[in-house]
Amino acid sequence: MDARQFAAVLEKLAGAEDSRLQQVLQLLTQRSASEGTEHAVHGRLRGERRRLARRRLDAEFAAACGACACFGAPHCPNCGGEGRPGWQVPDENLFRMYVAPALERLGIHHQEEGHATM
Ligand SMILES: [Zn+2]
Repeated sequence: MDARQFAAVLEKLAGAEDSRLQQVLQLLTQRSASEGTEHAVHGRLRGERRRLARRRLDAEFAAACGACACFGAPHCPNCGGEGRPGWQVPDENLFRMYVAPALERLGIHHQEEGHATM
């Protein structure tokens, strides 16, 4: 039975006089309403998790660049707008993860002592 057929059956039952049928119908209606709410809650949670993961990735990339999380946006309370890449010493591990591979593609090799060579 597809959703449309099920809805038609429910509609037919709604006209029935039997009070037990009415109770079953009420329960089914309540259940599908709460399933809808549950679905919405799961959707919101999924969105929130995605947003947090995105924010963590942004923060990691900023740290890899030695930048503030705002990347130097004016009026940032954390850096006062000075937080462009190189503002602080980059996080070495995050630098290796996010930046070094891009530098290698440009033919710039990151060395352990922190000096780059072309
Ligand atoms: Zn900032």
